[in-house]
Amino acid sequence: MMAKSLKGLRGFLIDAPERGRLRGVRDGAVLIEDGVLVAVGPFDEVRRSPGAEYVKWQHSPEAVLIPGLIDLHAHLPQYPVVARAEESLLPWLQRIALPAEKEFNAAAARAQAPHFYEALARNGTTCAMLHAATYEQSCDVAFEAAERSGMRIILGKVMMDEAGCGGLSPREKLPLSLARSERLCRKWHGCDGGRIEYAFSPRFAVGCSEELLREAALLARKFDAYVQTSLSESCGGTGAVYEACGLLGERTVLAHCVHPDDEEVRLLAVARVAVAHSPTADLFLNSGIMPLDRLLDAGLRVGLASDVAGGPELNLWQVMRSTIESQKARSFYEKEVRVPTAAEVFHLATLGGAGALGKGSLIGTFDVGKDADIVAFDLAQALSCGGRGNMHCDLSPEEVVTLLVYRGGPAAVIETYVRGVSIYRAPAPQLL
Ligand SMILES: [Zn+2]
Repeated sequence: MMAKSLKGLRGFLIDAPERGRLRGVRDGAVLIEDGVLVAVGPFDEVRRSPGAEYVKWQHSPEAVLIPGLIDLHAHLPQYPVVARAEESLLPWLQRIALPAEKEFNAAAARAQAPHFYEALARNGTTCAMLHAATYEQSCDVAFEAAERSGMRIILGKVMMDEAGCGGLSPREKLPLSLARSERLCRKWHGCDGGRIEYAFSPRFAVGCSEELLREAALLARKFDAYVQTSLSESCGGTGAVYEACGLLGERTVLAHCVHPDDEEVRLLAVARVAVAHSPTADLFLNSGIMPLDRLLDAGLRVGLASDVAGGPELNLWQVMRSTIESQKARSFYEKEVRVPTAAEVFHLATLGGAGALGKGSLIGTFDVGKDADIVAFDLAQALSCGGRGNMHCDLSPEEVVTLLVYRGGPAAVIETYVRGVSIYRAPAPQLL
């Protein structure tokens, strides 16, 4: 009986248990029982585990297996208008992002949400924290699609009640916004054993009254749900407002944090918030470059985010690359900037993101007892000439991760698993 629930994956295991340190097992394997890792190590050892003699091993030593990537901030309704540039955040919101959100009714959600989740899985992302639009019904439909997708999703209806947000009129009044958010939270938070969760989602300080921020914080605490919002995207100084409204805490994920001053960094660290670093979006919308080393040195939990459609794509390898390159650019004109390595940004996209969500003991590395959120990559897709003439079996974990940071993407993803269940499999290659 036991053998029936076991599943085994074989490949070059690479994870990042600490920032800057990779762990690699060439020809390794993981054994999964009911979605949980029960054995991890060299294939020759793992295949001798109890019951493993009946396992049909998936993949091969040629595949690279990594923990699923974690995207801490993106906007589902904005995906149709991805990569439409504007010179800065507010005109972009007005001309591109908000009209797309306005069209996100239930029918649009029904059409778009399954594709969006599939696109995440196709990019090797297994867990994402997302904004819907301001509407309750389309958010509900997006939750239904999330439940069906098999992805690990944290989602919330956008809250805003103030006029004058880039000249916009109010979308909804405060009591309605609170009641709708609470209904969605009651219905979805903790579904499927916690695979689906709710995040109260005030858009940003200028779009929300202080009363809304306060009430959203109270609701999040009441239901032990998340709070997600933006901070210091185009200018600094709203951290104190969030703090005064009780919005900052361990279950709060703040996107951007591009322009925090020392006092704000201290305040965020004391409040133990998490930060979603989204360099591709911050560059795309000319917001600036986040002082990554200062936030890490302050002890803040930091993960990575595509911020689609502020960011031009869901591919987190590009976000990792942009994290390195933007800090490198900063180091050319600021003294003593620490530029992260490929191993460090890979940590941010896996265990770093898990820690930001308070899920560091559940996902993010290959440790026995954790959920089997795993991506299988075909390294040949990232190598020159498809790996022909390359001795890619001899690459170190650092070299493999560097290759993927600079050349990885959906073309290299073979299969994506959440809790050991395959949620995406690349189509078989076409015969030429
Ligand atoms: Zn955003």
